[in-house]
Amino acid sequence: MSEIQIKLPDNSLKNVPVGTTPQEIAEQIGPGLARAVLVAKINGVLKDLNTPIIEDCSIELLTGDNPEGHNTLLHSAAHLMAQAVKHFWPDAKLTIGPAIDNRFYYDFDLDSAFADEDLIKIDKKMHELSKNNFPCIRCEISRKEAYDLFQKMGEDYKLEILEDIDDDELLTSYSQGDFIDLCRGPHVPSTGKIKHFKLLSTSGAYWRGNENNKMLQRIYGTVFAKKDDLKKYLSMLEEAKKRDHRKIGKEMNLYTFDNEIGPGLPLWLPNGTVIIEELEKLAKYKERKAGYDQVRTPHLTKGTVYERSGHLDYYKESMYPKMNVDGVDYYVKPMNCPHHHKIFSSLPRSYRDMPVRLSEYGTCYRYEKSGQLFGLMRVRSLQMNDAHIYCSPDQFKEEFLNVCKMYLDYFELFDIKKYKMRLSLHDKEHLGDKYINEPELWIETEQWVREALDEGSFNYVEVPGEAAFYGPKIDVQVWSAIGKEFTLATNQVDFVVPKRFNLSYKDKNGTQQTPICIHRAPLSTHERFIGFLIEHFGGNFPLWLAPVQVAILPVSDKTNKYAKKIAEKLNEAEIRVLLDDRSDKIGAKIRNAEINRINVMLIIGPKEEENNTVSVRRKFLGDLGTFDQDMLISGLLDEIKDRSLTHR
Ligand SMILES: [Zn+2]
Ligand SMILES: [Zn+2]
Repeated sequence: MSEIQIKLPDNSLKNVPVGTTPQEIAEQIGPGLARAVLVAKINGVLKDLNTPIIEDCSIELLTGDNPEGHNTLLHSAAHLMAQAVKHFWPDAKLTIGPAIDNRFYYDFDLDSAFADEDLIKIDKKMHELSKNNFPCIRCEISRKEAYDLFQKMGEDYKLEILEDIDDDELLTSYSQGDFIDLCRGPHVPSTGKIKHFKLLSTSGAYWRGNENNKMLQRIYGTVFAKKDDLKKYLSMLEEAKKRDHRKIGKEMNLYTFDNEIGPGLPLWLPNGTVIIEELEKLAKYKERKAGYDQVRTPHLTKGTVYERSGHLDYYKESMYPKMNVDGVDYYVKPMNCPHHHKIFSSLPRSYRDMPVRLSEYGTCYRYEKSGQLFGLMRVRSLQMNDAHIYCSPDQFKEEFLNVCKMYLDYFELFDIKKYKMRLSLHDKEHLGDKYINEPELWIETEQWVREALDEGSFNYVEVPGEAAFYGPKIDVQVWSAIGKEFTLATNQVDFVVPKRFNLSYKDKNGTQQTPICIHRAPLSTHERFIGFLIEHFGGNFPLWLAPVQVAILPVSDKTNKYAKKIAEKLNEAEIRVLLDDRSDKIGAKIRNAEINRINVMLIIGPKEEENNTVSVRRKFLGDLGTFDQDMLISGLLDEIKDRSLTHR
């Protein structure tokens, strides 16, 4: 039998007979890997483990520890769940069942919603199907076969999906036991691999996220290759539920939505507005120190500028429809970039002015489908910590590095311990269609970005083929205190749009040059970042961010007058106070302040009044004893000024 050569990730080579499968290779390597492997990557493409290998190739054997291996397991669990659902509800129509963020879901067209007891029943059946260890069988089918099959089964949504698949795409079905689904795969080799799972919740979801379509019934679940990982994830979810920004946002009166204002358009209540103002104060301070200039731009803009920027070509679906004013088309702005470009070009610029750094907490409006809206995380009006840096090529690296350092500065300030930067690069196969056709510029800029990241010793991964049309970008992911992942911001390099806007500066020789532009937003949007902070701190904000910084609690009506005097003094020092002078027991007042997540409580009794002092109690720390008024105030002001972290 003829042999082929395979290359493993450690660059070692192995000769195997033609037709050997990845599973067999795993077995040759060792029994541990053979058990743990879930899917293979052959020449960079994910394939089922029983795919016969017919030519020389490189191969990676992926377990549940690898994100793609885990995703394959998640998606396979979605099939397992659908199989169980079809067992009890044969009339349920299948739609799609993808994996997202450590979870999977499947949407079913079913007349009634799933009840909690249903989930228990489905879960039990899934364990049974897992024990049966049905092989997951991939089958290539023709368009006609697929059409006939799913029509006979009454799977209308699969027929609709078929219509959307390109004619030349190879169609495959996956079956396990009596269950069959239209699917690109890949899958784990058999249902027995899906062991450590849990169904999490149900919800309604519109078909294709469009509210004009039918409401489907969704079930979410999760699965891990290791029992311990499932346990860890479930306890993280439990904690996340307590910290859900929608729940805490309501409890702390931070923001609200109103149907008459519109979905996805948050109204910031006074407490939330305090947080916004503190964040803006911080951003402006950091930016001023880093040489940025603040600008302000209008919310309405003529359509012609978005033709020039390319937004109308590439971004129209996320923009609100135009409005006609005096015969001219206007849009509410989805981005601030063109406005900043116009501010750059409003003055003649020379190399002496460069770099020019323009920043603005700019308000943008983006159309998100109503099914996609989610608390503060996905909204339709958003205020972005935006800035554009215009620089010459030889200034680029330093500017980029400084932007990245600003991210790190913020991470430290907000106690963000885990972060990851993803550097998205172009792919030369797609120059001219997906990416602007400037091959040398791409390679050069990507190298600058890489050097800047290496110089700053940043933790990053490279992702080829995911750059923006006009340049490489960096996505920043952060993890909250309890390990929940958030994508915060994107940092983009742009070497196309400056040319389109005829931006230029005079170089040393008097020649006009086009600057490079860096788009950056380290604090993301107020909506997303505050949503993150609420969950990260569990609502227990550091003193400088807390809507109410100090609660003043007189022990009885007798000390109300003295308490009021202290409140006035703190107010005068610009410390945000709440005076609780209701006739309540002191224990109840303390409890109330703790429930409202107020960090500093001042207990005022007759003794304190007599000695002109206050007794201090802090959440997480307990009683700290009595303090002289002025000493207390100066201590609090220091803590606020330094933006110190308070106990969580
Ligand atoms: Zn599938
Ligand atoms: Zn921009």
